[in-house]
Amino acid sequence: MEQVDLLILGSGPAGCAAAITGAALGLKVLVVDRNPASRKAGDALPPQAAPILQKLGVVPDPAWATPTAGLQFQWGSETAGTTSFAGLHRRFGLALNRPVFEEHLRQKALEAGACILTSGPEGLQETPQGWTLKLQEGTEIHARCVLDATGRQAWVARQLGIKRHSLDAQVALYREVDSTDGPPWIQVTAVEEGWWYISQLPHARSEMFFTLPESPAYLEKIHQGGWKVAPASVTFLSQVAGERWLAVGDAAFTFDPIASQGISQALASGYYAACAARDLLQGRKEAILAYTLTLLKATEGFFREWAGIYQAEQRFGGSIYWQQRHNLRSVQLPWWQQAELFTWVQAR
Ligand SMILES: Cc1cc2nc3c(=O)[nH]c(=O)nc-3n(C[C@H](O)[C@H](O)[C@H](O)COP(=O)(O)OP(=O)(O)OC[C@H]3O[C@@H](n4cnc5c(N)ncnc54)[C@H](O)[C@@H]3O)c2cc1C
Repeated sequence: MEQVDLLILGSGPAGCAAAITGAALGLKVLVVDRNPASRKAGDALPPQAAPILQKLGVVPDPAWATPTAGLQFQWGSETAGTTSFAGLHRRFGLALNRPVFEEHLRQKALEAGACILTSGPEGLQETPQGWTLKLQEGTEIHARCVLDATGRQAWVARQLGIKRHSLDAQVALYREVDSTDGPPWIQVTAVEEGWWYISQLPHARSEMFFTLPESPAYLEKIHQGGWKVAPASVTFLSQVAGERWLAVGDAAFTFDPIASQGISQALASGYYAACAARDLLQGRKEAILAYTLTLLKATEGFFREWAGIYQAEQRFGGSIYWQQRHNLRSVQLPWWQQAELFTWVQAR
């Protein structure tokens, strides 16, 4: 039986960022991942990720990152356009070898003092002191605070009966192709049934196609084989934190991949959640609302631009994919109610 301050389920970018931060804050941290080697889609870090990488002490390395100069896109017009990262942010973006990047993050978490265990969780129970997690091999772990970093699975939130909402039905088909000499530009191209994303990674070329499961292009690629499938819809929990738990990264909120924000927001939310967990363990319950507000701020910018990005493409009005994209609506996330109450209390 093990007793820890902070138990983190999931060792993706969000879980690792939380582990690095929590351990550096002096917490006893244990990370449990049922399959750390699982292959995930997503390999572009925009230049805006630089500050959070720096905060976590993660220095880009050619072993897992190659610079990207910007975007070349064909979207809304037959004429191709470019957006240079250097011009916009005076920085480069990064294209990742995702498994090596995540291994590097796990190594950082270990160096910071966290422990990492590969095992599947069986059940989570709240106790007067915190939580008891039962693992598949029968081991029990006692923790004062739990972070849900299990990605779209949102395993902890599901155990707690917290509702997960989905705003659309987009899916992705993705694969890596042997090639190491592609251009350092990410190519984004809108087509009749969706959009393509192609980028040159350190070790391969990444190809992704975003569409709907009922589109003929989707069915054709599934039939052809060699493509992996991932959900790529926008989802969120109805509540992202409680007195002894917080949800981070994709477990709390999944961005549309067009925003290219998932990994950097996972890292950032992991960082803020570990700080909030430390505060909660010191009895400062306002940390729940402060953390919720931080996530709201991150999603606000996304919702401001989301529908407009798809509205900018009007050439394929007859396709179901684009009709659905043109009907996207921002929502007021249920966390607003908590956050508004917080602002109201603070003002008094
Ligand atoms: C097709 C596609 C393309 C994308 N492209 C980009 C991109 O270019 N740039 C970008 O920034 N983002 C992109 N994203 C999003 C990005 O990949 C995610 O936002 C990011 O992986 C979230 O990190 P996370 O740590 O929250 O979750 P994950 O990376 O999903 O990690 C979750 C971890 O939890 C573990 N786990 C799951 N269930 C359990 C359980 N019950 N118990 C224990 N462990 C568990 C898993 O094994 C995994 O290691 C893309 C997403 C998709 C679908």
